[in-house]
Amino acid sequence: MYDDLSIEHFMKGLIKRNPHETEFHQAVREVAESVIPYIIENPRYRQAGIIQRMTEPDRTIIFRVVWEDDEGNIRVNRGFRVQFNNSIGPYKGGLRFDPSVTLSVLKFLAFEQTFKNSLTGLPIGSGKGGSDFNPKGKSDQEVMRFCQSFMTELFHHIGPHTDIPAGDIGVGNREISYMFGQYKRLAHEFTGVLTGKSLEYGGSHIRSEATGYGNAYFMQEMLKHHNESMEGKVCAVSGAGNVALHCARKINALGGKVVTLSDSSGFIYDPEGINEEKLDYVTELKTVKRGRISEYADRYDCDYYPDKRPWSVDCDLAFPCATQNELDVKDAKALIKNGCMAISEGANMPTTVDAMHRLQDAGVIFGPGKAANAGGVAISGLEMSQNSMRLSWSAEEVENRLKIIMRDIHDKCVEHGRDGDRVDYVKGANIAGFIKVADAMLAYGVS
Ligand code: GLU
Repeated sequence: MYDDLSIEHFMKGLIKRNPHETEFHQAVREVAESVIPYIIENPRYRQAGIIQRMTEPDRTIIFRVVWEDDEGNIRVNRGFRVQFNNSIGPYKGGLRFDPSVTLSVLKFLAFEQTFKNSLTGLPIGSGKGGSDFNPKGKSDQEVMRFCQSFMTELFHHIGPHTDIPAGDIGVGNREISYMFGQYKRLAHEFTGVLTGKSLEYGGSHIRSEATGYGNAYFMQEMLKHHNESMEGKVCAVSGAGNVALHCARKINALGGKVVTLSDSSGFIYDPEGINEEKLDYVTELKTVKRGRISEYADRYDCDYYPDKRPWSVDCDLAFPCATQNELDVKDAKALIKNGCMAISEGANMPTTVDAMHRLQDAGVIFGPGKAANAGGVAISGLEMSQNSMRLSWSAEEVENRLKIIMRDIHDKCVEHGRDGDRVDYVKGANIAGFIKVADAMLAYGVS
């Protein structure tokens, strides 16, 4: 059995079983490239069919979500929850509300989460869910009605020991609050079933900052390992959401200079540096007014590039913090040409596989999302711990733990990704994440 374990043969089987799921194929291929050679060297994983089992979700739940808009029209969306792997803990991962959401996108995200959650060192399994509902342009009342309807079905499949969703693109504190309120009503109990909650009802300090802060800390660790630092580095950041803005704040605090931010309409380039005051403005613009990043260019008199991504600017460091496949081969070439030395992925799979190879071959230090953006889910794990203990740690305590977790993830990547005097962080993250889950699966026998 599994005589031919070449990457191409394995991928052919996976694509046949999951036709048209291109994002899922891409995420699996990226992992298979490092994990299959490792499995070949370690026959116990091969005989037990671990990679075949690990690429099949435990279950996928798809449901109808019906809600009423402000004009009284009945609207229908599709809801999903992919419960991918609970070998090392209950299913854990965000909910994404965005028109681009499909089963393929959620399977890729849930699969990535398996490795990411394992890397945190915390007992959390993997899942992801969401809907093709678009919260942009909807009133608060409409978002509330959608969230309540979504949770009315999701309620049957989750629980504090079973599956603990959180936020992702399109799901912030407002949406988590509406969903938590509905769960509480249906379950008739107060539990830590969602993370990313507000502080006053069981949330953790630093949770909203954690993904962005963690990404900046991960970059700092990679630079330190290469006898470099963030001090004075020019940084291109994409996105203007929770991850990008907190990443930008931490870059500033660590001595870097952020010169770009973007949204789905274009990017702004502010060579003076996007300081704290400007970041406060963008936070207000994006979270309260729900406006466009182009407004920044008018206010601070800088260049705005419609329909473009920020990878063509001169920068030392790049932080893709927007969404999947936002950095392709063309962008990689521009970054290499402009002297970019390191990339740390704040988003999930923002770099295409070909672009990633191109960057690594050119010697750019490349921190993959499953390691670099694991800070968010790690603090979600700590929110679960605090909820179980019915206590709340201080912001200082949580941030200290975040720093330690990011440092440990970095060190695991080095341990498993060392390649002569360079480090292949992609290989290191994939193998380190794989081993813990694979060993748990082996211990359970055939299941
Ligand atoms: N959506 C985030 C991620 O991609 C956080 C998930 C969580 O906190 O459960 O890791």
